[in-house]
Amino acid sequence: MLEVRQHPARGRGLYTTRHVQGGEVVLQEGPLMLVAAHTMKDAACAMCLRHLAAVAGGIQCPQCQQASFCGSACKQAAESSHWVHGLDVCRAYQKLGAVSVGEQQALQDEQDLDAARFLIHALCLKALAVQGQADAIQRCTSLLSLVGDPTEVELRVATRLRPVLEHALNAVPNSVDVTEVATLLRKEQLNSYGILAPPPSTSQPSSAPAAPALASASLGAQGGDVQGAGYAPMTEEEAEDGERRLRGSALYVQASLINHECNPNVARFDAFDQQGPTSTHVCFKAMHDLPPGTEVFQSYCPLSWDHEERQAHCKDVYGFACTCQRCQMEGRHGDRMQGDDGSSGGWMTDDEEGGREAGMGEDGEGAPSISGVDGGSMAVDADAAGASEAGPLDPTYLQLYLLKYVCPIPSCFGTMAPVGPGVSLHECAVCGHTRSEEQFLQELEGPIAE
Ligand SMILES: [Zn+2]
Ligand SMILES: [Zn+2]
Ligand SMILES: [Zn+2]
Ligand SMILES: [Zn+2]
Repeated sequence: MLEVRQHPARGRGLYTTRHVQGGEVVLQEGPLMLVAAHTMKDAACAMCLRHLAAVAGGIQCPQCQQASFCGSACKQAAESSHWVHGLDVCRAYQKLGAVSVGEQQALQDEQDLDAARFLIHALCLKALAVQGQADAIQRCTSLLSLVGDPTEVELRVATRLRPVLEHALNAVPNSVDVTEVATLLRKEQLNSYGILAPPPSTSQPSSAPAAPALASASLGAQGGDVQGAGYAPMTEEEAEDGERRLRGSALYVQASLINHECNPNVARFDAFDQQGPTSTHVCFKAMHDLPPGTEVFQSYCPLSWDHEERQAHCKDVYGFACTCQRCQMEGRHGDRMQGDDGSSGGWMTDDEEGGREAGMGEDGEGAPSISGVDGGSMAVDADAAGASEAGPLDPTYLQLYLLKYVCPIPSCFGTMAPVGPGVSLHECAVCGHTRSEEQFLQELEGPIAE
């Protein structure tokens, strides 16, 4: 369904090889590496990231007391795949847990602790690969194949963390290579997903029979399919008391090939609190129909962010300036194409719409066409899209797109996608909220129509 292609500007990307229906799963894969956040050491399984409130009771590692497991199966699996929680990792976690943050300025904050945890796993993985362990060799090769060359920032962090790592890993002083560590850090930053913990109110997953798989408990960092540690959407209360909500981070090899656009066409779902062997898998669903040869895009930040926020995020975290069609349009029109001035911006009359070159045009007789958001005009865009060469997005289209695909639940900011192919029910990838096409049309008529 997808193939890797080279784009002159964006490098590798994933493209559809056939027509894909909205709601179809375009990619599902298991993780290369999962790392529970230090602050979640008693709340997230170190093997599968399951939230421990979701199970009868976790098992804390009796040796290091710095990791917990959702059950004996995960504990045994973690111990026997040594790089997850074998003896070396366990000892390193114990030593890391004994180093207080701020001590010798080596560990400045929780983020440093999380970086150190990731590095312990990565360096142990490498050691196993050097010893010739097949699975480790494969994972190491995958890890090193991810994009990411270190910048000065990672080199500084690596220099600072080196003595901590050497201490934790029982390594000879100066034997940990700063450039190698910095490279690993950069790859992690560019390619990992921050995985959200369940919101405090629902940390007991609801037993209500929600829509099939991935519904109520799919609480990934998704937001706008967010990659990287730079993003942790919070509820207002949480934002106030600054509580962190990431349970950990996850690396996926194929998913890391999906490039960014601020008007993505796939949404990321995860299911860490579901039962079953694929709970750690990431899953991307098409948000609408995709013609063959379309590049699939995820968004590295929530769709609701304004132009400036998105530009800053792309620049600061990923080191690129986004030139997607939405950014071209908003860069031109200013952030808010529909201000609070009541001008109800994009709802064009037929006359106005007639003048448009792309987007809603074709079927745009009468009322603004929702079907335009559902494939029709997107197909036009996607066809024209050698991508950013395609020119700015149509403002009306964008307005409808945001109404349709941004979760309407206050402070959720998740992305909505059809529950399945041919299904008009949409589901939020973050909170699981569902909305039918009829409800959507009713909501549209409410505040906006005149
Ligand atoms: Zn587990
Ligand atoms: Zn342990
Ligand atoms: Zn953009
Ligand atoms: Zn939501």
